[in-house]
Amino acid sequence: MYDFVVVGAGPAGSRFARSAAEAGRDVLVLESGEIGRPLACSGHVSLDIWDFLPGEGDRRESSESRAVNDERSESSAASAHDDLFQNDIYGARFHLGGADSEAHTFYKDEPVSNAIDRVGLDKTLAECAEQAGAEVRDGYTVTDVDEKPGRVEVTAKGPDGVESFECRIVAGADGPRSRVRQEVGLPDPEELLHGVLGFDFEPDDEDYVDVHLTVPRFFAWRIPRGEAGVEYGLAVAPGDDAPGRFEELLEDYDVELDERCSGAIPIGPPERTVGKRSFLVGDAAAQTKPFTGGGIIYGMRAADIAAREIDPEQPATLENYETAWREELASEQRLGKLIRAGYSMPKPIQKAGMKAFSGEIGVHMDRPTSLFSKAQLRALLSWN
Ligand SMILES: Cc1cc2nc3c(=O)[nH]c(=O)nc-3n(C[C@H](O)[C@H](O)[C@H](O)COP(=O)(O)OP(=O)(O)OC[C@H]3O[C@@H](n4cnc5c(N)ncnc54)[C@H](O)[C@@H]3O)c2cc1C
Repeated sequence: MYDFVVVGAGPAGSRFARSAAEAGRDVLVLESGEIGRPLACSGHVSLDIWDFLPGEGDRRESSESRAVNDERSESSAASAHDDLFQNDIYGARFHLGGADSEAHTFYKDEPVSNAIDRVGLDKTLAECAEQAGAEVRDGYTVTDVDEKPGRVEVTAKGPDGVESFECRIVAGADGPRSRVRQEVGLPDPEELLHGVLGFDFEPDDEDYVDVHLTVPRFFAWRIPRGEAGVEYGLAVAPGDDAPGRFEELLEDYDVELDERCSGAIPIGPPERTVGKRSFLVGDAAAQTKPFTGGGIIYGMRAADIAAREIDPEQPATLENYETAWREELASEQRLGKLIRAGYSMPKPIQKAGMKAFSGEIGVHMDRPTSLFSKAQLRALLSWN
């Protein structure tokens, strides 16, 4: 019997598998498709991403193991960055209108975020999980999860037909439309936005993303991705016309795209994310930033908390995870929700806000509470 069966090898699932395996747990990961595909994400992340990847920034490597693995560590540091990095982003130009409208620029004199190869990220994180001792199988779609006394039975359709696996605890890391969530009867997130994006493969290493507050309750974007080209995208509330609004954005920029994709963005965590012998992590638990929809870093932070808090021999420790991840992310998510409310304010108020806040910023992209940090206050006070 496995300690954990993890359903889904996205960032949250692979990160949890790696952390749990490193803690000596017996872990199986089941992924329905090819790891990283289909792509439905911008891969626009704060620089914290490099802390989760092998190399110098890997915060869990002790100095002892670092010394032993020095050679391996340095080469994988170089390769993780070299393989995944696409562009440095120094800030955002906010627009209340379309491509030619006035821009309110928020910037730093050093990179605030990176555009990275999202497919490569998933593959790298899954490799890290395997290297830590987890068993990762792709081509396995989980169809049933049965929490029984003392164990969980997880059924999947694999390359050789239907197979069942037994574990002490099952992790639902299977994204916004989580099958595990449904199977164990946990509630849905508050909202599922519909995101669409596409790529123009003409290289662009510009320093700024463009954000257009032109769609109701969210935004449209343009992200320069270096040699990988330019990405255009938007997300809308359920029921709104995402494809129609996307066409308007592309017409406005006068571009035709080489590739398109779409996906769901969960906003607002469900009231409970743990069952009797199950828990949700990542998008399955809506561990996302309400004002951007980004969930890569939050999901991996929560995954580390799960690995730390949950003892598979003692299902009661699931409650520790429920409390701990909310303590870690709740204030950021609350403030993020308030920032998002600003997207729906009347234009004159938005304009006044942009004028007051644009300029040099001290805010950390994943921590809206840093809006009230010393760095941000210093930056605010220096604007004349
Ligand atoms: C348009 C768009 C743009 C985005 N841009 C960004 C961004 O720039 N930055 C950012 O941080 N976030 C972004 N996000 C959000 C980000 O993609 C998610 O927060 C992140 O992928 C969540 O990771 P996860 O591991 O929880 O889930 P996922 O990445 O969704 O991984 C879940 C995995 O589970 C697998 N799976 C599902 N069901 C089953 C099953 N039954 N059996 C087995 N496997 C299963 C899936 O195949 C998938 O591999 C964006 C999302 C969208 C839709």
